[in-house]
Amino acid sequence: MKRKINQQLLLIAGITMLVTLCSLIIVFYEMFQKQVMSDLRVFSYLLRNSVEQSGDLKIQEEYENVLRVTWMNKDGTVLLDTNANIDSMDNHLNRPEMVQAVEQGEGQAIRKSDTLSKNTFYYAVLLNDGSVIRLSREADSIWSVFQNACPIILLIIAGIGLLSVVIANIATKRLIKPIEQMAKDLDKNTVEPIYKELEPFVKMIRQQHTDILKNAHIRQEFTANVTHELKTPLTVITGYSELIQAGIVSPEDTIRFAGEINKNASRLLTLINDILRLSQLDSKDLQASREEVDLYQISQSVIELLKVNAEKQHVTLMLSGTPQIVMGDKGMLEELVYNLCDNAIRYNVKGGKVVIYIGASEEHAILSVKDTGIGIPEKHQKRIFERFYRVDKGRSKSTGGTGLGLAIVKHIVTWHRATLKLESEEGKGTEITVAFPETVSKKN
Ligand code: ADP
Repeated sequence: MKRKINQQLLLIAGITMLVTLCSLIIVFYEMFQKQVMSDLRVFSYLLRNSVEQSGDLKIQEEYENVLRVTWMNKDGTVLLDTNANIDSMDNHLNRPEMVQAVEQGEGQAIRKSDTLSKNTFYYAVLLNDGSVIRLSREADSIWSVFQNACPIILLIIAGIGLLSVVIANIATKRLIKPIEQMAKDLDKNTVEPIYKELEPFVKMIRQQHTDILKNAHIRQEFTANVTHELKTPLTVITGYSELIQAGIVSPEDTIRFAGEINKNASRLLTLINDILRLSQLDSKDLQASREEVDLYQISQSVIELLKVNAEKQHVTLMLSGTPQIVMGDKGMLEELVYNLCDNAIRYNVKGGKVVIYIGASEEHAILSVKDTGIGIPEKHQKRIFERFYRVDKGRSKSTGGTGLGLAIVKHIVTWHRATLKLESEEGKGTEITVAFPETVSKKN
């Protein structure tokens, strides 16, 4: 970056220098031309006055070397020329400065000399008798002015170039310094970037930084939770099996202990399955398809799966609504409905009801699972989709919960670009609604 800025600054300096020098030469040459012409005019006035007073043209010797004087008669014939033999001179009435002088009283012209390096300046004035006096002199052309100035120009360019390198270096360092400082202060949220333009960039990096830290924290917490959750059933299994192994347990207790071991081993399996499922849903290369899936059909098969469970809990399972096709992964959607219904049964009351509703709003396919269960106190409602978050740990565990069911639900909902809504009142019941973005009309 430093090199790039440096190069740009030098390029700007180079271009500026060139343009400035060229413009200066042009401006100075303009001024020089004006000056030469103005000198010629003054001299021509003086000559005219003297000729008109004395009737004769006299030129001081010192001017003769520099100035050429031509006196042209009314008809164009040359009466006098200080630099040439008048006999060999042609009619001068066609010279632009002469034409202008005859018409307007005075005229001027600049013509290229034989050599490229010189220009000839002409100034002509009309006399009362109709004759014209013309003064001319040679002066450097712009090209020769440039050639003469070249060594000085090169010297100036070299000098300014050197100065530019030094200044560009200092300027670049000054420009970069706050950026380097900003990079060092990136994790200090209180330090504001010096350049306004950097604000969005710094904001984004800080946000990413915060997200990374937050993710790391969530992972750490999850690992600690997993360890704890796995440890509990394993401790029970080890304890009971050690007792049985010691041979000090009565036959009836052995059967009871074996039951406990079995229960905790199943719990371990369920836990491991849920953890694996979550990590699958978390991974980037999740194996899932997007196909047309009927939410109504899925709900019917979930009801089949949970029927026995519901009966055991004395809970009625019902399905209402109409078939709705969404684009999604069948397995994942089944899992979603299963987890919601499973919860609605497990956190229900004896004689309670669970209603699955499948319908459509204007732009969404709607799936809702409503129960008449124990409800969720408001202060817990925001957090129940977090991993391992449970309102009543005892009830969750005793009904075979892992604390991961709703975390899985949330993942599936996000994957389907759907939205989740929770409505619950303690003691009355809970309704969880999922709205899918795309609906496909049912094929006949
Ligand atoms: P769990 O395996 O403990 O059921 P979930 O992630 O499925 O874990 O649910 C998290 C917590 O949310 C549960 O422990 C329970 O306290 C609460 N919960 C979930 N669904 C319901 C429901 N339908 N009625 C009442 N509470 C619920």
